[in-house]
Amino acid sequence: MKTNFLSIVSHELRTPLTSIIGFVHLLTEGRVGETSPAQADLLKRVSQHASHLQSMVNDVLEIAEVEAGGIINASVQPVDPLAAVLRVIPKIEARRGTKQITIEPVLQGRIPMMLGDAHALERILFHLLDNAVKFIPHAGRVTIEFQQREHDLDVTVADSGIGIPKENVQRIFEHFYQVDFRLERAYGGMGIGLSVVKMLLEATGGRIRVESSVGLGSRFTLTYPVSVEHLPAESRVN
Ligand code: ADP
Repeated sequence: MKTNFLSIVSHELRTPLTSIIGFVHLLTEGRVGETSPAQADLLKRVSQHASHLQSMVNDVLEIAEVEAGGIINASVQPVDPLAAVLRVIPKIEARRGTKQITIEPVLQGRIPMMLGDAHALERILFHLLDNAVKFIPHAGRVTIEFQQREHDLDVTVADSGIGIPKENVQRIFEHFYQVDFRLERAYGGMGIGLSVVKMLLEATGGRIRVESSVGLGSRFTLTYPVSVEHLPAESRVN
């Protein structure tokens, strides 16, 4: 019943939301007359919030579909991980609000192509970076690090936020789980970002591990196979 309910609600929310996004697009494109700079700025914000709402609805729908035995559409092929990170950062910057947080990829040496699904990788990075920014109370630093280890590439999203107590780490990938589940909790969210991350990783051949210390911050490391053409010739399997 719960799965069915989630599926019906998210389907029903999707239709009016698509119309809202479409109408705002007509306004921002100037198809129904000129907008003033102040109006254009407000329309941009309406559009950003509507897109965020749309991706939340899509996440809930996807969870319901997978729970009901559906599969995630993904096609695994060579993907440029840095390009994916650079596409996601502007979306996260728009969600940083007034907090003083730097969000930076750490670039040392060549970053190889990896095997994955580009769209899924962007959604995964969005959820990890969104959490990284959300769980830094006022000011701090978020980095994205890349490290090749033989046939694998690690992509780590590290934050200087509140951290996760040891006894809760095991549960954070469960649907709707939040360490602080009180209604008056300080940080928003539905507790589904990491469930979606886990589902997308399972569908696209990636893994994830978490290291965290309360008060110091968290590190979420994704591991993907390096794309074969980007391995040194002697380690390729023919
Ligand atoms: P949401 O962020 O919407 O609550 P998630 O599934 O993304 O849902 O995360 C589940 C829970 O894991 C969060 O509510 C939070 O308690 C914890 N968590 C996830 N990422 C972090 C992080 N970077 N720092 C601290 N806690 C985190």
